[in-house]
Amino acid sequence: MHKITLIPGDGIGPEVIDSCVRVIEATGLKIEFEQVDAGAKTVKEKGTPLPDTVLDSIKKNKVALKGPITTPVASGFRSVNVALRKALDLYANLRPARSFEGIESRYENIDIVVVRENTEGLYAGIERYIKEDKTEGETIRRITKKASERIARFAFEYARKENRKKVTAVHKANIMKVTGGIFLESARRISREFSEIEFEDRIVDNMCMQLVKKPELYDILLAPNLFGDIISDLCAGLVGGLGIAPSANIGDKLAVFEPVHGSAPKYAGLDKVNPTATILSGVLMLKYLGEKNAANTVENAIKKALKEGKKLTYDLGGNAKTSEFTDYVISKII
Ligand code: NAD
Repeated sequence: MHKITLIPGDGIGPEVIDSCVRVIEATGLKIEFEQVDAGAKTVKEKGTPLPDTVLDSIKKNKVALKGPITTPVASGFRSVNVALRKALDLYANLRPARSFEGIESRYENIDIVVVRENTEGLYAGIERYIKEDKTEGETIRRITKKASERIARFAFEYARKENRKKVTAVHKANIMKVTGGIFLESARRISREFSEIEFEDRIVDNMCMQLVKKPELYDILLAPNLFGDIISDLCAGLVGGLGIAPSANIGDKLAVFEPVHGSAPKYAGLDKVNPTATILSGVLMLKYLGEKNAANTVENAIKKALKEGKKLTYDLGGNAKTSEFTDYVISKII
């Protein structure tokens, strides 16, 4: 039996995590969930948003399912999500964006996977005020050949394993010649080891325009941390929004699965939001655990529920509650 760390998180986190757990359990797969808490609530109780018990539990169980965690804007504690990824060296952030029948969106047949470097770059939060009166500051964008090659290799190996055809590196090496250059050159070097997979690159601003105009041309997008964060929301928007966008944070030995979206505090406790992103993160987790049958069962149940469209949440044009949609997905599990 698998033992998994479960972090419900803040805001809508507990609702969407509960939904995902219920759907996984409905497949009959036996999983023991070890619940630990992190985030805003934990600060009040334990004085830190990320107690050691959370990291210890993930290190022991190797796999975690996590809800979103609130990060205060412009002040307060630093992001638990970033700290977790760094502390556990979860260097690859996988964010698939796929069209589903029944979900109205601008395009059909989109199947893009963003592979985002997860440990360095602008997103790492290395920053300081330069003036004491806090009127000037700087954020450091540190990028290394080691981390860039590692994420590029991950993207190409993923492409090979999943039988994908093309990797597009996303960068701004024309302006940020040093850090952008290291990232792009690393991707180029690794691409030569994977001759069967096409490799190309795009400057990030052009990439955004191309994605909005011709998303069907893209397959795997390999991006440094901040660009990966931004373009993956763009890709989520192309296929129907954050309510259906899952993600995986993967390292050499550990992995944490979570929806792309945040804690959406205004919807917390309303039984209103879409749990699909978290359920699909659960599917990624089941695949990672080697539980192919359970993964396919859940994925097919989600596909059917979305296609029939009888019980959709508000973001997909319906008025079903989170719990009603979850029950409907469970009713499609055979
Ligand atoms: P958000 O993703 O929480 O919400 C933005 C909007 O997207 C919501 O108002 C809602 O309209 C929609 N949305 C999000 N999830 C949805 C769902 N499951 N179903 C339907 N609609 C959904 O982004 P935000 O408001 O910028 O951030 C809120 C908090 O979450 C912040 O503190 C932020 O730092 C944090 N955050 C955490 C993570 C994480 O834990 N990995 C990721 C992103 C943001």
